[in-house]
Amino acid sequence: MNCIKVHVRECESYGDSLAVIKGLLKQPELEKQIKDCKRILIKPNQLMASTPDQQICTHPDFVEAIIVALKEYKKPIAVGDSPGFGSIEKVAKVSGLLEICQRQDVPLLGLGEAMTVKHDGFLIKSFELAKDLKKYDLIVNLPKMKTHTLTVFTGAVKNIFGMIPGSRKAQFHARLQNANFFSLMLLDLYSVLKPKINIMDGIVGMDGQGPNAGRLRESKMIIASEDALAMDAAASEICGLKVPLIEHAKKRGVLPKYKIEGKYKSQNYKHPRSIMEGLPNWLKKYAKSLLTERPKITSKCIKCKRCVKVCPVHAISHELKINYSKCIRCYCCQELCPEKAIRLKSNFITKFMFKKVGRS
Ligand code: SF4
Ligand code: SF4
Repeated sequence: MNCIKVHVRECESYGDSLAVIKGLLKQPELEKQIKDCKRILIKPNQLMASTPDQQICTHPDFVEAIIVALKEYKKPIAVGDSPGFGSIEKVAKVSGLLEICQRQDVPLLGLGEAMTVKHDGFLIKSFELAKDLKKYDLIVNLPKMKTHTLTVFTGAVKNIFGMIPGSRKAQFHARLQNANFFSLMLLDLYSVLKPKINIMDGIVGMDGQGPNAGRLRESKMIIASEDALAMDAAASEICGLKVPLIEHAKKRGVLPKYKIEGKYKSQNYKHPRSIMEGLPNWLKKYAKSLLTERPKITSKCIKCKRCVKVCPVHAISHELKINYSKCIRCYCCQELCPEKAIRLKSNFITKFMFKKVGRS
């Protein structure tokens, strides 16, 4: 396996970012991707409508510096994201992204339309991804260096989760509330979608209760790599965080060998505290059963037992009984049942949740 380079550069302020980014894009493995591509899609983090000083989204000056640096290569460029809450226009107006897209004359895409991508992953057998991805052969992924109360760290791999349009993301959050299973889903997503250029905004990061309510950290660095997972491993190492995504990647043997190039100061980011943390196990189980829909085998079942085979945690017995205390609500059984014989049973809370977020 090749050793992936993860480049770390000091950057005092957003005003200095253009020069640093231009230097990073000259790295041979990154510049080759730009020279070889036809169309570029820039994917910043636009989590929610928040102002640049809140540092929740990739900073607009950082995105503008990337656009300016990429324009030198004279390729068509667009910027796109599907925010967790609200339309891209509303979010980008507040975050400052809309203004820079207008100033730089590049289209801003909402990535709302979906296409199905089949994938024989560990947990997920198909993803609904933004249809616009088909039009671009180079994704430039711009995550923010932040902690996350569920996944511990929200870096480059978590940023590509934004390529899943709108409310479909909420369904994954509802289904996979456990950090381990959410991280396994992210690993499946990483094997489907690999941005070839990843540049992390770590000029001002966030620790503690990220991704939106943490403490701002002036980490004064930009990190770049051709591999999102290697970059997350390096960034979480720099931040001093133990991240489930990286631990699972190591266990499954999919973490590329990487080498950090450049000087940096270790950051000692404060670990986030999960909402579920501290709850006794019986209460966690109760919360899970309240917040998610249960798969239920109906009378359409022809007893082919495919669901028994695909269940990743062996929660379905050969007698086709589902053990709900084992079930992690991945819904692989429902997705893959040839007879559509598995129904998702709601309770009043999940009915309310899906009414709020919209069911796809
Ligand atoms: S996959 Fe569907 S049809 Fe086959 S046993 Fe399971 S529920 Fe029944
Ligand atoms: S029974 Fe539960 S854990 Fe097993 S495949 Fe179905 S939803 Fe997933």
